[in-house]
Amino acid sequence: MTKKILVPRGTADILPAEIVHWQKLESTSRDIFRLYGYQEIRTPIFEETGLFARSLGQTSDVVQKQMLNLSSLKEDSGSSNASSTPDEGLSLRPEATAAIVRSYIQNDFDRKESLSKFYYIGPMFRGERPQKGRLRQFHQIGLEAIGPNSSLPFLDAEVISLAVHLLNSFGIQGFQLKINSLGTPEDKKNFSLHLRDLLQRNLSRLCPDCQKRFERNVFRILDCKNETCRSVVGELNLKEPFLSDESRKYFEEVKTALTIAGVSFEVSPLLVRGLDYYTHTVFEVSHSGLGSQDALGAGGRYNGLVQELGGNDVAAIGFALGMERILLARQALERGPAPMDDSFTAGPSLDVFIISLDKEGEEKAFLSAFKLLQEIRSQGKSAQMSYAPASMKSQMRLADKLGARRVIIIGEDELKENSITFKDMLQGIQSKVALDRIGEVLKNDR
Ligand code: AMP
Repeated sequence: MTKKILVPRGTADILPAEIVHWQKLESTSRDIFRLYGYQEIRTPIFEETGLFARSLGQTSDVVQKQMLNLSSLKEDSGSSNASSTPDEGLSLRPEATAAIVRSYIQNDFDRKESLSKFYYIGPMFRGERPQKGRLRQFHQIGLEAIGPNSSLPFLDAEVISLAVHLLNSFGIQGFQLKINSLGTPEDKKNFSLHLRDLLQRNLSRLCPDCQKRFERNVFRILDCKNETCRSVVGELNLKEPFLSDESRKYFEEVKTALTIAGVSFEVSPLLVRGLDYYTHTVFEVSHSGLGSQDALGAGGRYNGLVQELGGNDVAAIGFALGMERILLARQALERGPAPMDDSFTAGPSLDVFIISLDKEGEEKAFLSAFKLLQEIRSQGKSAQMSYAPASMKSQMRLADKLGARRVIIIGEDELKENSITFKDMLQGIQSKVALDRIGEVLKNDR
């Protein structure tokens, strides 16, 4: 037998039975983003590799290990093949922030708006070792708020509360929100020196990856999952102040604003995020029901990135939530005691199912039904019929299976009378309607 071709490792088909959950997440998100004045942006799913290397940082794990390059398109991006460096060519986007900032600069948004509020929903790609909750193609819902003078603590708080609003609306309960401040780049540098000082004496206990991180990106050590690294990190006393007075004041205001917004949070000095571009407020939402990959989403402020990528000195903040993780958390919760709102599990519904019954060898009813099917759909109602000849009983069974609210029957009698039989499946009431009145009846039917 010919070998079957399977879905690539670390990716998944989203089948029709599951799509209802995805669509619900998407439509709920769109509604909520609208409440806060965010508009959708769609950027390409691949960009120049250099965009990600410059924004995420050469030493970040994403750039070091997880970029998926499109080697066949290398020449298009203007690089000369022979001497190509890892920054050249094109890569599938591992996240959306860099691409949205690229677009913000390219389309001169800073001259058009004092604050641009974008949201996105779509796939991201990382060459990870696949495991539960960690895929090579996964999907994120996120936002970016970018603009001159947008470094405002109340905007940070609004962005964080929007993330919380989304998760609440998805029916996720029991998640933890951690926040921290990295301060200015200067504060961040002081913090990294302080961290190195603290970690120096335990360097030999760290895993080989973290030993490299010690020099290149000491913050990443705080996120390492290795048991020993975790215990070294757990012993750190990070109380020492490294934030400037101004940064501390900013963070205090973010916390005040969050409290006013009614958002519960925990301040975690160990939360640093592994990407170079973060400054000031960073946050992460996790859920214990997710196992080792427990982050539902994360984000933070990135005031230097627009300028770093060739734009003006414009501040920005954003976050991304992982859609697969949200659905996993929902599954975990459904096994628990809390009942979930059933709008997530409602199956598809059908406005009308048309049953046609012809005499053997004839197809008048069938053709009339087919014509009516198109008319009903053009009125914006969902409609289906069976294209294969079948008995009344089996067509009724199919209508039931498809969740039809109404059934229209066209048989010999109806053809003779130029009418149809209209059946309300919910109330079990049946009546004859003249064929030329069916449009009107359906229009008034709710
Ligand atoms: P990050 O940009 O890594 O902070 O990712 C933001 C969110 O996207 C995470 O909190 C996860 O929910 C989700 N995410 C990141 N990487 C993956 C992945 N490889 N597979 C599934 N979800 C992911």
